[in-house]
Amino acid sequence: MPQCPHCQTSYEVEQHLCTTCGYDLRKKDIKGIGGWLLWLCIMLTIIDPLIMLWNGYLITEMRYDLRDIPVVFFLQLFALLLLIINIILSMLAGGRLWLKMKRVITYCKKVLIASLCIQFIIIILVIIMGYLIGAPITIRDIVNDIGAIVIGFGIWYWYLTESVRVKNTFYSEFAKKAN
Ligand SMILES: [Zn+2]
Repeated sequence: MPQCPHCQTSYEVEQHLCTTCGYDLRKKDIKGIGGWLLWLCIMLTIIDPLIMLWNGYLITEMRYDLRDIPVVFFLQLFALLLLIINIILSMLAGGRLWLKMKRVITYCKKVLIASLCIQFIIIILVIIMGYLIGAPITIRDIVNDIGAIVIGFGIWYWYLTESVRVKNTFYSEFAKKAN
């Protein structure tokens, strides 16, 4: 008889729910890098780094006069450094997901939190630079940026916590060892 991937209790083939833990047995085949998990991998390794590179380009393009406000130059450098760290973290998380490395979900969640903090700091830096160069960022732009960042973070954090595919792909081995 087949076993529940969640608690290892044997079940009949025609059963839909595990009688011990309530696991939906029809979902046991949703496994591996596919669906939303594939999309997350592509986001982390390719799309997010490209967006961050574009943001870096925009930051270097902000008009300023170095002789008048050198502090803007250092703020720009700081923002670019943070973007580079963010790109590296994102690609590492994505790469580890592709390779299904140990404890990768915990790692990805930490990266999501770190990335959220870094993006907030960059927004603050850009706001300060905007004021210093006499071209303040509008409240609407700031709210839009923060909204997009928080929503993106929330969706993927929730996905990593709740997804059946993530549980089947990354936690079944741990469940087997625990039982
Ligand atoms: Zn079960």
